[in-house]
Amino acid sequence: MLGLMQDWPLLLHRIIDHAAIQHGTREVISRAVEDGSLRRRSYAEIRSRALSVAKRLQRQGITLGDRVATLAWNSDRHLELWYGISGIGAITHTVNPRLFPEQIAWIVNHAEDRLLFLDLTFVPMVEAIQDKLPTIERYVVLTDAAHMPQTSLRGAVAYEDWLAEVDDDFAWGRFDENMASGLCYTSGTTGGPKGVLYSHRSNVLHAMTWATPDYLNLSSRDSVMPVVPLFHANSWSLAYSAPMTGAKLVMPGAKLDGPSLHALLEGEGVTMTAAVPTVWLGLLQHLEATEGKLSTLKRVVIGGSACPRAMTETFERKYGVTVAHAWGMTEMSPLGSFCSVKPVYEHLEGDALYDLKVKQGHPGFTVEFRLTDDAGRDLPWDGKTFGRLKMRGPAVAKAYYRREDEPTLDEEGFFDTGDVGTIDPAGYMQITDRSKDVIKSGGEWISSIDLENLAIAHPDVVEAAVIGVAHPKWDERPLLVIVPKPGRTPGKDEMLAFMTGKIAKWWLPDDVVLVEAIPHTATGKIQKTALREMFRDYRLP
Ligand code: ADP
Repeated sequence: MLGLMQDWPLLLHRIIDHAAIQHGTREVISRAVEDGSLRRRSYAEIRSRALSVAKRLQRQGITLGDRVATLAWNSDRHLELWYGISGIGAITHTVNPRLFPEQIAWIVNHAEDRLLFLDLTFVPMVEAIQDKLPTIERYVVLTDAAHMPQTSLRGAVAYEDWLAEVDDDFAWGRFDENMASGLCYTSGTTGGPKGVLYSHRSNVLHAMTWATPDYLNLSSRDSVMPVVPLFHANSWSLAYSAPMTGAKLVMPGAKLDGPSLHALLEGEGVTMTAAVPTVWLGLLQHLEATEGKLSTLKRVVIGGSACPRAMTETFERKYGVTVAHAWGMTEMSPLGSFCSVKPVYEHLEGDALYDLKVKQGHPGFTVEFRLTDDAGRDLPWDGKTFGRLKMRGPAVAKAYYRREDEPTLDEEGFFDTGDVGTIDPAGYMQITDRSKDVIKSGGEWISSIDLENLAIAHPDVVEAAVIGVAHPKWDERPLLVIVPKPGRTPGKDEMLAFMTGKIAKWWLPDDVVLVEAIPHTATGKIQKTALREMFRDYRLP
């Protein structure tokens, strides 16, 4: 017998409707790309403008299932575009502008995007590749007439002019909740770019799951600054979960440096923010140099790559800001776990608490974990046994866009994340490494993440990365690569002495190299492939 409850499809535009009706005056603040000034809108205005976007797109001939690309920073305009595009059943393809131009051309062609909305910042780059983008019918520059540059882009128009051609008298599309809503390509650190195709239902469920107190912990009293870009896997749901809860949104635009972020955190009373560790390195350096404070910030979500323990301690001990270490991936929409303290660990304090906080944590309802060996046999959740981490749930990818025939799930329907880790009896997961980055020394595994965590705690170290380099006897041994603080030159002996006693002796790196900069991927992670290439012929002492 079927239940007798209403059929209310989980469609994304219902989120912005709810925000406009229940939290209509709550603000969405954006730092303008044009001049760095702050633009203030409300959820009611964002909804009205999103309806205009939808109406204007329809006039442009965009229809159900069409792909529409954005190359844009976090802003009110990007947000209203998202809701407008998916509101007629078209698909928002968020393109990561930090990819190489050739990669951008590749994914735009693969997606067969019909329109491209771009921030002013990216006009020269797109002009240079537009000959390689035959499917793009029109370029819309996210600015107004006064700031519109001379450009050779096909059919280029200023967004505000384009939008002003219609009013907001429009009804959202009606379609199935399983319809595709968004497309995001993984940045290709593990092979060619692969498109993850989200649905309305998956994004709504994902936002509901992670907004809850043990995870993003959002409410209408929060002021939320997503530094993690909308183009980095849905800004970790914040473009949906903030309006869903009525939290104020603070969008940093193109300025992600320490001083600019600090000004927004303080000026807009931000209570919660989220980004990858490299962004927070910039903020913490700025705070240290200026003796700055974080007077309203309560929580910072750090993920995308392992959050170093030293960073968690600095935020919590020095600035009184609680760190939530999060893990996820594009294929998971992207969140998969958060390290908040369950009652079983409530007694932990001091170092023991920070030992817990380096873990990637536990999943919210809708994400199931599985830990297996290479043959697919389940492994114990004892916090020690390493294995392949696999995930299942309604917001986890089952196939890649236009590669639907390639199998991606195991026989139980779990997706292999490519990460290696442990799960403890309380359900906390800890990543040892990506399977490609783990160092295989004499048949045993060494976690590059653990070594990096240790090295970065040294006072002279800004950033640290560990890679495996070839070794005649052990197969691979760890090499520690360090970016030192200006004027400091921590040597090998000093670094090894600092790390000794904190890990097994045979895990200690065989050598330490100082460099000026460590290469990063388009999503701000240490680019291990590039580092391995740099040290391909490196001979260990
Ligand atoms: P890619 O960088 O391959 O394009 P994603 O941005 O989706 O793809 O990255 C997902 C991967 O990032 C995860 O599989 C994991 O290896 C890594 N990652 C994400 N968060 C964390 C974390 N908190 N700790 C360690 N690794 C993480």
